[in-house]
Amino acid sequence: MTAETRTSNSEAETRAIAARLAAGLGPGAVLLLFGDLGAGKTAFVRGLAEGLAIDPVEVTSPTFTLVHEYRGGRLPLIHVDLYRLDSADLDEIGLDSEFAATGVIAVEWAERLSRAIPGATQIRISDRGGDTRTISVA
Ligand code: ADP
Ligand code: MG
Repeated sequence: MTAETRTSNSEAETRAIAARLAAGLGPGAVLLLFGDLGAGKTAFVRGLAEGLAIDPVEVTSPTFTLVHEYRGGRLPLIHVDLYRLDSADLDEIGLDSEFAATGVIAVEWAERLSRAIPGATQIRISDRGGDTRTISVA
């Protein structure tokens, strides 16, 4: 995937950017999301769900669970949120790696991962004030 930076002026636009990205993803894709609290990482994951034809209403910030799985779409979406951890390894947080390989994994607070994930797509969302965000995909 070639690196690109987009500007979003609304949550809906962020979701649309994510949905378009999701259309091109295959099984085993890993998306690492970086950005401060309130940047729009969870909104982006909702857009991924929409793009995979999963009901985005199901997608919430996983407060008590680290991992949420959403099925019923073109591919399963596995949503990981590492906010509550200082450091984590995907193998250690109860992610079934065989199941994960069948779907798309999206990781919020990916800077807390203790190991690099080869081939992962990095998504950086920065708050530019108001509803403006820059979203870089690399
Ligand atoms: P994070 O998961 O990064 O903490 P959330 O997705 O939970 O962030 O929250 C993002 C908040 O910012 C939501 O309240 C959303 O409505 C708001 N928002 C405003 N503008 C945008 C935008 N352009 N893209 C995404 N979210 C936006
Ligand atoms: Mg979030």
